[in-house]
Amino acid sequence: MDLRALRRPIDSPDDPAPWADESAAPRPALDGDTTCDVLVVGAGLTGLWAAYYLLEADPALDVLLVESGASGQDERGIGACSARVGLDADGIAERYGEAAARDARAALRDAVVEVGGVAAVEEVECGFRFGGELVVAGDDHAFARLARQAAAATRWGDETHVLGGAALAEHVRLEGAVGGTWSPEAARLDPGALARGLRDAVLSRGARVVDRTDVARLSAGAAVTTHGTVRAATVVDTRPHGTRRTAAALATAPLPEAVWEQVGLARGEVLAHTDGLRVVREASGRLVAGRAPAAGRTRPVRAAARSSDALHADLVTLVPVLADAPVTHAWQRPLAEPGALPSVGLVDDHAWARSGGTGPAAANVAGRTLAELVTGTQSALTRAPWVRRG
Ligand SMILES: Cc1cc2nc3c(=O)[nH]c(=O)nc-3n(C[C@H](O)[C@H](O)[C@H](O)COP(=O)(O)OP(=O)(O)OC[C@H]3O[C@@H](n4cnc5c(N)ncnc54)[C@H](O)[C@@H]3O)c2cc1C
Repeated sequence: MDLRALRRPIDSPDDPAPWADESAAPRPALDGDTTCDVLVVGAGLTGLWAAYYLLEADPALDVLLVESGASGQDERGIGACSARVGLDADGIAERYGEAAARDARAALRDAVVEVGGVAAVEEVECGFRFGGELVVAGDDHAFARLARQAAAATRWGDETHVLGGAALAEHVRLEGAVGGTWSPEAARLDPGALARGLRDAVLSRGARVVDRTDVARLSAGAAVTTHGTVRAATVVDTRPHGTRRTAAALATAPLPEAVWEQVGLARGEVLAHTDGLRVVREASGRLVAGRAPAAGRTRPVRAAARSSDALHADLVTLVPVLADAPVTHAWQRPLAEPGALPSVGLVDDHAWARSGGTGPAAANVAGRTLAELVTGTQSALTRAPWVRRG
């Protein structure tokens, strides 16, 4: 296969991600004023998980999800379902104490397993594969830092193995890699298929999901939307919060096995490079890459983070065999604040659940915590450091 023949320039950084199912029509918009028990604003992964666990706890609840776009169609992740979030265990311990850090890490590790378990039970074909996460260092200084982080992570219950150059090469072959770490708590998946599967699961349990309906104003017990007013005993806001900066992501066409033999990631490991690149070998054989948020971002660093060409150039430097690989999708995704954790709260009748933007496991934890708060369940999740109560 001559990959060059298929190559196109990366000139449109706003393609849909490869997970979009563009053939699917959006669901109908809200049809005038209505009432429900729980209104969930936003049908991204966090909103869908919240609805899923609310209905699991109380199948009689009347749940309505209101989505401004098209539910399950615009998932912008890269398909890495990892227990890592923006704040590491030491950082959580500094802010919230040691017990909170230990519980938070356990909850995030469990969330990866939980995502795979629900996908299996609900028969969601999302290519979930539990291959763990590699973090790769590009120089000795970064490798020494990774080794220190691995020792700290292990103290918090996060199994992390340090891999020298030869051991790392058994997993992945990257130009300039001096070593890395591998931890088991991560999986790759198709986040669009997961979102659509969850949407179908909540629909089959009686939830209503409306698309193309923008919530313009929220208050305790009511939401004014572009298509009518919704009154609800509880209103849950899952819209991401804060500044919406963006970072580039791209996907290649499915690559021939001969290319993957040179690259690796045969066990479905998801990969993060200390330079900020994240890479996933998708089930269909596509390589998906994105940027992780860099700490202390300056204006030029932020501009580079948004550029698909810069992302592609860095990827080809690490994996030269990709120079001729066709890039079929280039899109942008929102960038979370450094240090972000999920955030979940219930104050009077207003509730919120935010993943903090760090991927499907954090979205699961946020949605599940929210459902437990709303249904009055006491658990390790409702005592987690990301919970606020009124
Ligand atoms: C820093 C960072 C790292 C990430 N890392 C990964 C990763 O490793 N792997 C991975 O797969 N993904 C990753 N992602 C992306 C991943 O897609 C998200 O983590 C996940 O989709 C978040 O889901 P969410 O429901 O919290 O947010 P969203 O998917 O943004 O859902 C919010 C929903 O609310 C809707 N909405 C917004 N405003 C309104 C309104 N006014 N009215 C009605 N609806 C509204 C939006 O249309 C959207 O559907 C990352 C994202 C960030 C920012």
